[in-house]
Amino acid sequence: MLDPVTVVASMLLGVPFGLVGLHGISRWIGKRRNGQELCGHCGGPLYASGSRDGPALLEGIHICSPCAASNTNRLRRALRIVAGLALVSIGSGIAMAVVMGGIWWAAPLFAGMESAVLYGGTLAWMKRANRKRAAELTAAGEIWAPLLCTPTVASVARTAAETGT
Ligand SMILES: [Zn+2]
Repeated sequence: MLDPVTVVASMLLGVPFGLVGLHGISRWIGKRRNGQELCGHCGGPLYASGSRDGPALLEGIHICSPCAASNTNRLRRALRIVAGLALVSIGSGIAMAVVMGGIWWAAPLFAGMESAVLYGGTLAWMKRANRKRAAELTAAGEIWAPLLCTPTVASVARTAAETGT
């Protein structure tokens, strides 16, 4: 039998760090695809056929315009899942506090802090990755400076493609 303390403790620590790990893997795949001029998400061509939109940047990874269009929804869903997992993590911390007593009152607090740091850190890091990559591409003459500030990446990219700048 698994020791319940071990299970809860590993959930407390494992859930957020597991998410970071998964994220790292998907980024690694995206970078590899980008290296082959492919969309970091779907692995299709960066300039999707039937679309005049150029690729967009997501977390420093190049994605095709259909992916950019669907990404807003996807991101919203992902953030909800992360929030749900954070609640699970905090909830298990509270359960620990109730069952174990003593110093375990700190468990839900720790889980909450951990989630907040990861959440805020991820958002800040996403913005930074985008700025860095956009600066590189601008220097290489591949992309347009307005992309530096996101969130309407797709529309900015379209405007730039239409005006040919
Ligand atoms: Zn794509």
